[in-house]
Amino acid sequence: MLEEYKKKRDFTRTKEPKPQLSSSDKGNLIFVIQEHHARNRHYDLRLEIDSVLKSWAVPKEPPVKFGIKRLAIATEDHPISYAYFEDTIPDGQYGAGDVKIWDRGVFAPEKITDKEILFRLDGKKMKGDYVLVKTGFGKGNGWLLFKKK
Ligand code: MN
Repeated sequence: MLEEYKKKRDFTRTKEPKPQLSSSDKGNLIFVIQEHHARNRHYDLRLEIDSVLKSWAVPKEPPVKFGIKRLAIATEDHPISYAYFEDTIPDGQYGAGDVKIWDRGVFAPEKITDKEILFRLDGKKMKGDYVLVKTGFGKGNGWLLFKKK
């Protein structure tokens, strides 16, 4: 599940976590949203599912309120330890630029299918019931992220 993550990175150059499967081992599943100042600034939403962080790139600020829908582009799985990564990815490396944690907390999945994920987030900014639904656009990687109520 982390082959693509591994393939894209040179771990002798980037300080990003090595591709290892693990769990967050505190009894709760976790989520993180990282603000990533790459070529285009975006937010990376990552949810702990099956011992990895399933990941989506969200071009605009994630919805903290009901009524806002955001495009979310599915990207490669990341190792769980990535939830604690905050640093600068060096020039010339994949995703070069600053990574800052924008929010982090507990992820409580309600339903997970290939096309839809219903979940609750308990972070500092993101709190409540959320939906991720696959739309099929963007080469099939397009999803929508919104607050349920
Ligand atoms: Mn990113």
